[in-house]
Amino acid sequence: MSRVFYASARARKWRHSDSMPGKLERLLASRMTENYFDKGEWVAVKTHFGSEGAHRIVRPVFLRIVADALKAAGAKPFVTDTVRIKGLDYLEVANRNGINHLSVGAPVVLADGLYGNDSIIIKAGEILKEVAVASVIHDASAMVVCSHVKGHINAGYAGAIKNLAMGGVSGRHRTCGWKCGRGSMHTLGDGIFKWDSEKCILCNQCVEICPLDCIEFKNREFTYNAEICWRCGRCTRVCPAGALTFPGDDLIFLKSLPEAAKAVLSTFKQHKVLYINFLTEIQPECDCMPAADVPLIQDIGILVSDDLVAVEMASIDMIRKQQPLPSSLASDQNIKAGQDIIMSIHNKPYTITIDEAERLGLGSKSYELIEI
Ligand code: SF4
Ligand code: SF4
Repeated sequence: MSRVFYASARARKWRHSDSMPGKLERLLASRMTENYFDKGEWVAVKTHFGSEGAHRIVRPVFLRIVADALKAAGAKPFVTDTVRIKGLDYLEVANRNGINHLSVGAPVVLADGLYGNDSIIIKAGEILKEVAVASVIHDASAMVVCSHVKGHINAGYAGAIKNLAMGGVSGRHRTCGWKCGRGSMHTLGDGIFKWDSEKCILCNQCVEICPLDCIEFKNREFTYNAEICWRCGRCTRVCPAGALTFPGDDLIFLKSLPEAAKAVLSTFKQHKVLYINFLTEIQPECDCMPAADVPLIQDIGILVSDDLVAVEMASIDMIRKQQPLPSSLASDQNIKAGQDIIMSIHNKPYTITIDEAERLGLGSKSYELIEI
């Protein structure tokens, strides 16, 4: 049975050791003694930098504690993420969200270069065949995966598996383009858009959200550059009218996430990756969206494990026990205590991803929870 270490978000005593930063320090002090990381080893701290409006990411104060713990263990950490918009703009987003060398105490590095195409093709599985793993993640010999747990319009639940799968794979590759990038998880076939002129209200939101400026309306007709488009799906997600879609299949998408995560993890030796799930500010949508809604449930705390599936299962089990918060999307949708909030919000069979991850040998759903 895998061990998952847990620190509650509650501060029941007014002392540093009972704060979330203090508890994370204690959690890592215990885990770092188990020789995951070698002296002088470069360790990637993989997180999500957020977007200009999605501020509810893993807070820099926690990334700093992770970096400090790694340095105390003799390793050399750097904080990294794959680019979602042009690389230098994405670094500025990180900076605006408080993630920079000074704040986190380690270099902040783009995992797949200025244009999100610095990646190495790695064999995947039955669905994806091969994926373009970000070169910085590919080349690092150890990693701490710091995931902000939240909902996701396509995945239902987004935690460490999604952070590895979508976040460890580039938007595109220099030779195979988007087809071995993360767009291959979002869509099927050639990923050709369907635009419904009857539904479109010409709001321009798809144009504004496109990180590659490849959408245009010519004579009120939707056009896009299919060669440049990396099928990130941001335009389809923000469309308020449901006018823009591309081919997809929920089941295939949910199963492709652990497949991509496995490909990313195949570039590391065993016991070189640690997972930290932050169950804080659990909002309905991904940190790459242009805004972050208020949390659906109260903060729960931090989970640490070296078992990917166990840390995800424990996160889901904890979320399922929570009450929906008033004035949130959960209350707008009249979700009641006892209902599966994640399932109710997005109506996606999200546990398929966890089951598939276990089937692929990425860990065990059976875990022992150890609270500090
Ligand atoms: S999927 Fe949409 S937002 Fe993403 S690159 Fe293509 S056109 Fe732009
Ligand atoms: S976001 Fe949707 S409704 Fe708005 S312009 Fe684009 S396709 Fe039309």
